[in-house]
Amino acid sequence: MRIAMTGAGYVGLVSGACLADFGHEVVCIDHDPAKIAALEAGRMPIFEPGLDALVADNVRQGRLSFRTELREAVAQADAVFIAVGTPSRRGDGFADLSYVYEAAREIAGALSGYTVVVTKSTVPVGTGDEVERIIREANPAADFAVVSNPEFLREGAAIGDFKRPDRIVVGTEDARAEAVMREVYRPLYLNAAPILVTGRRTAELTKYAANAFLAAKITFINEMADLCEAVGADVQAVARGIGLDKRIGGKFLHAGPGYGGSCFPKDTLALAKTAQDAGTPLRLVETVVAVNDQRKRAMARKVVRACGGSVRGKTIALLGLTFKPDTDDMRDAPSLAITAGLQDAGASVRAYDPEGIEQARPLLPGVTFAEDIYSCAEGADALVIVTEWNAFRALDLDRLRTAMRGAVLVDLRNIYDPAIAAQHGFAYQGIGRGQGD
Ligand code: NAD
Repeated sequence: MRIAMTGAGYVGLVSGACLADFGHEVVCIDHDPAKIAALEAGRMPIFEPGLDALVADNVRQGRLSFRTELREAVAQADAVFIAVGTPSRRGDGFADLSYVYEAAREIAGALSGYTVVVTKSTVPVGTGDEVERIIREANPAADFAVVSNPEFLREGAAIGDFKRPDRIVVGTEDARAEAVMREVYRPLYLNAAPILVTGRRTAELTKYAANAFLAAKITFINEMADLCEAVGADVQAVARGIGLDKRIGGKFLHAGPGYGGSCFPKDTLALAKTAQDAGTPLRLVETVVAVNDQRKRAMARKVVRACGGSVRGKTIALLGLTFKPDTDDMRDAPSLAITAGLQDAGASVRAYDPEGIEQARPLLPGVTFAEDIYSCAEGADALVIVTEWNAFRALDLDRLRTAMRGAVLVDLRNIYDPAIAAQHGFAYQGIGRGQGD
């Protein structure tokens, strides 16, 4: 099949490269000429494990190419995916759909022959109707269907998630479009692909419902962690104790500094707004949004407390800046609020991240960036593990302790055993690890 992918970001580039890998002919289109120039030169504009090799291989095989202009690729395509950004709109928190609508207008003028226009971006209920209206208005003669096909991949594990998804949600009532979508995804499976066909609005809402549920699960265990600290219980044991129940499941029960990233914060907020507009507010989701927002800055206060009540004039070393490991994505990362909170309290912040420093630098004014873990810790009064990169999981605690001026270790991801950290001379603080047992 011939596929055009508009938007070559985390989702578009990974989806395009994976679909090419399964034998389709894919053109990825992006407005950003620097991104396309980098891709044509074989450089990845984002960090995602395995992506460089996947892209290089498929470019070499002639199945994957890059353009800044969509006309030719859309005219030849069986399916045109819209994978542009849908950030929070400034001011009110609704999804900013201007990129989606702009892409729809551009696509409209280039359609030729029956084409399925697939919205892969996360978009509020009813956006497919508007995309259809825009295309119909711009090109009344076009033969097309608009399908919702939300993406569930996770950054850091994006290729595996795209190639082996738990499910593929396809929202359409058009039988011809459904057949095209089945053909797009058929090569991913030797047997039947786990495709769930729904109405378009249902598919759009399913994506938000999934993200809101996961965000609620994280927020639940985070609040439980605070209670554990207050009453002397251990949140990791609580998480295991509830997670072994198959009705609950153990995933997304790791207490931490609050969720961040390019999806959960904006999607939970957009869902809450959609529900308010529909006259059926989702109080649970609204509360999740509020609790999580407050939590990030509360982590800075936790560090201040661990440092004896003041960080003025102290140097705090942060390990990990990206919102999770194996990505360079800094969007809504907890490190942003934590850094601001520490700087407001008078601390100097030094930071290290294996892949995120380039993206972090413009977002973290006043922060000094270190070349590696141990130079980050050099002379620091406290060390804070913010993101659980693999490289931080087996640190040489003696070397760290010797390099630092102080002995405070705040482990916001619970990757160290408190007793072992104490044996190495650290005053250790994890998340939800009360001392009552
Ligand atoms: P991104 O910002 O990384 O990429 C979007 C790209 O679209 C940018 O490169 C931008 O230059 C390009 N673009 C914007 N308008 C364009 C146009 N008219 N024509 C061509 N290119 C255009 O965004 P992302 O993280 O890939 O997210 C894309 C969508 O997928 C969002 O709706 C997001 O919510 C959703 N999503 C993201 C993830 C994730 O993990 N990042 C997972 C699932 C779903």
